[in-house]
Amino acid sequence: MFFPLTVRDFLDRAVTVYPDRIAVVDEPDQPAPSWGEITYAELGRRARSQAAYLDDLGVPRGGRVAIVSQNSARLLTSFFGVSGWGRVLVPVNFRLAPAEVKYIVEHSGAEVLIVDPEVRSLLDTVTAKHVIVIGEGDEPMWATHGDPQPWENPDPSTGSGQGENATATINYTSGTTARPKGVQLTHRNLWTNASIFGWQASVNDRDVYLHTLPMFHANGWGMPYAATGMGAKHVVIRKIDGAEILRRVERHGVTFMCAAPAVVAAVLDAAKTWDGEIPGRDRVRIIVAGAPPPTRTIERVRSDLGWEFIQIYGLTETSPLLTMSRMRAEWDDLEPLEQARLLGRAGAPAVGVRIMIDDTGEVLAQSNHNLDAYWENPDATAVSLEGGWFHTGDGGTFEDGHLTIADRKKDVIISGGENVTSIEVEDALMLHPAVREVAVIGIPDEKWGELVTALVVVDPDAEAVTAEVLIAHTRQHLAGYKCPKRIEFRDELARTATGKLQKFKLRAPYWEGQQRQVN
Ligand code: AMP
Repeated sequence: MFFPLTVRDFLDRAVTVYPDRIAVVDEPDQPAPSWGEITYAELGRRARSQAAYLDDLGVPRGGRVAIVSQNSARLLTSFFGVSGWGRVLVPVNFRLAPAEVKYIVEHSGAEVLIVDPEVRSLLDTVTAKHVIVIGEGDEPMWATHGDPQPWENPDPSTGSGQGENATATINYTSGTTARPKGVQLTHRNLWTNASIFGWQASVNDRDVYLHTLPMFHANGWGMPYAATGMGAKHVVIRKIDGAEILRRVERHGVTFMCAAPAVVAAVLDAAKTWDGEIPGRDRVRIIVAGAPPPTRTIERVRSDLGWEFIQIYGLTETSPLLTMSRMRAEWDDLEPLEQARLLGRAGAPAVGVRIMIDDTGEVLAQSNHNLDAYWENPDATAVSLEGGWFHTGDGGTFEDGHLTIADRKKDVIISGGENVTSIEVEDALMLHPAVREVAVIGIPDEKWGELVTALVVVDPDAEAVTAEVLIAHTRQHLAGYKCPKRIEFRDELARTATGKLQKFKLRAPYWEGQQRQVN
C-alpha cells in the first residue's frame, strides 16, 4: 500500500493522541497579543481555520504563502495551516532588507504575504495580492473559520513529482549567487528529515522544545514537525539572549533546543553570572550546527552546563540533516577533552544519507531529504545535483565513518549562524561611487564565528570616504547582519593573471595558525 507522506501527518497524530496537552507556550512578549498556552486540539483547530481562510481567499493548491515573522505560535501554526492543506509556505528571514524581501516575494510568486507587526514597514516596499499584518485584523484567519476543503490526494501540480513529492516549502538561502535561491522542499523531504532527525536526536513525548533557532531557517531544521508528531511541548522565544534562554529552561522544564554556535556562546556567557544551579543539568540536549563549534565550547557545554552536546551538519538544501555527532558508548571512558574533540567533527551520516568526497575535496551527499530543485532556476538545480549527488560547496574529509568540515569551496561567509554571500556584499559596496574594487571575506571571530570583512580599493578621483560611511551605505541595501563589520583600505587586491580575485590569498593572513579554514 502506498500512502503519501505529508507534513500534516505530524499534526494529525498530535491532535488524535494528545488533544489536551499544551502544544505551544507562545512568547509572552509578542507585539501582537500573545496566544499564551494552547493545546494540540486548539493548534489543530487554528491550522484548519487558516487553511479554510486560504480556501476563501481562493489560494489554489500549490499557491505560495510568504510569511515574514520572528518566532511565534502563529508562524508555527502556518507550517501546518499552509503546507498541511497543499499550499506552499515561504518562510522569510525577518532580518532581511525590504529590497531582499521584495525579491523573494516576487520570485516565489507569493499570493499571500503575512508579516509580523515589527516588520510592517516592509509593506512600504513589498506587496502581494493579499497582505495580512499579524495582530491587525488577522483574527478571522486563526479563529474557527470553518472546515478547509479536503486535500486527501496531494496535488501533483507543483514540484517535479506527485503526491508526497508536491512542494511544501520554499526556503530562500544566500548561496553562491548574488540573488538568494529558493530551495524547493517536498512533503517527502520534510517528512523523512523530521522523522530521521527526530529519531536520532531521541525526540519523544516527554520533550519540551525551546525554539532558540529561528523557524524560518530551514523550517527550524524540521523540529516544528518532529516535536509536534511526538506531542512534545513547544516553547516559543522571540529574541535570543543567553540569560533569557536559561530562565525559560528553568521555567518550562525545557529538554532540548537547536542553536548556532553564537547562541551557545551567549548561553555559556550567561551561565558565568547565573545565580545558583544551572537549569537543565543532565536533562537538556542542545543540537548545534551552522559552523564547527570549538572543542573548548563543546567541553564547556558538557561541564559548565551539564547539557548533552549534539552536533549536526547540513544545509537548507538538505532539509537539513546530513550527519550527526553524538556521544557513543565506545567513547564513555575517554577523557572529556578527547570526547569533545570527537564531538567536534560534523559526525556520521544519518540513516539514509550517503556522503562522498569528490577529488576536489568537496562534500557530496545523497538522501531522501535533499532538495527537489531550486525554484524556477533549472540551471542552478542542474549544477547542484550534477551526477545524482548534491554538491554542498563545503570541503571536508570522511574517515572512519565520520565527516569533518575543514573549509568552504563556495564564497559564503557564515556569521552568527546565517549565510552571507560575499558577492551580494561586494555588489552593495560597488554601488558606492568611491569604491573601485572590493573583496569581501570572512575572518575568524570569537563572537560571530566569522566576521564579514571588506577589503576596499578606493577610486583616487572620488571624494574621500571612511569605513563608517561605507558601512552605512551597505545598510541601505542589505540586512544588518550581512553588512561588513570591518573595512580595510588597500592599494590593490591580489588577482590571478586573468583578473580573478584570489580570495584564498586575501584570507590567508587572517586564518594563519587556525586548524580549519571555517569557523
Ligand atoms: P544554511 O543552508 O543556511 O543552513 O547553511 C548551510 C551551511 O552551513 C553549510 O553548507 C556549511 O557551510 C555550514 N554548516 C552547517 N552545519 C555545519 C557544521 N556542523 N560544521 C561546519 N559547517 C556547518
